[in-house]
Amino acid sequence: MSRKALLQYLEMLQTSGIREFYPAPDEKAELLSELAQKYANCQNCALAQGRANLVYGEGNAHSRLMLIGEGPGEQEDKSGRPFVGAAGQLLDKMLAAIQIQRSEIYIANIVKCRPPGNRNPLPEERLACLPYLVEQIEIIQPQFLLIMGLVAAQTLLGNTESLGWHRLKVHSFMGIPTYVSYHPAALLRNPQWKHPAWEDLQFFQKAFKA
Ligand code: SF4
Repeated sequence: MSRKALLQYLEMLQTSGIREFYPAPDEKAELLSELAQKYANCQNCALAQGRANLVYGEGNAHSRLMLIGEGPGEQEDKSGRPFVGAAGQLLDKMLAAIQIQRSEIYIANIVKCRPPGNRNPLPEERLACLPYLVEQIEIIQPQFLLIMGLVAAQTLLGNTESLGWHRLKVHSFMGIPTYVSYHPAALLRNPQWKHPAWEDLQFFQKAFKA
């Protein structure tokens, strides 16, 4: 039932495009900060029970690019920040390789609280949390989305395809050109995927820097 509801919600999002939200440019960062505080004690799904910190997201509210991962891990839960620790350091290097600084972009996850034992978030948890990500996208209005990891890709693109199927294609989420590559944590566990990840980044860079 909840997977069906998630798919219905995603189908609506994929065909909807970005809502005409238009906060004034100088209000975007303040609005995101206010929302992060507003949701800090969110109890909308079971992931609230185990979290130390809600990881809302961070970065440049005016970015052309939003990078979207799956959910907080242990280090992110402790710090309240996305993509920290070894995976975060690798992400910084991956971005630097395509001439992007982390401070230029906005980073968020499909769920804002850590799943226990780093398991995949359940469909009902994704459904409960996705409106927060959608709201972030509506405020920032990025021109590109870069999804990192299979779970986030399957969730936002509403399919059960492999990561290999998602790579080197231009997808669409809320009418925004959307690219998919490996999650840095997966690359740390599977160094043989670093070469295809580099291909993905170059593919994305061509469009982003055009
Ligand atoms: S994962 Fe999202 S919906 Fe669930 S408690 Fe955390 S912020 Fe709320």
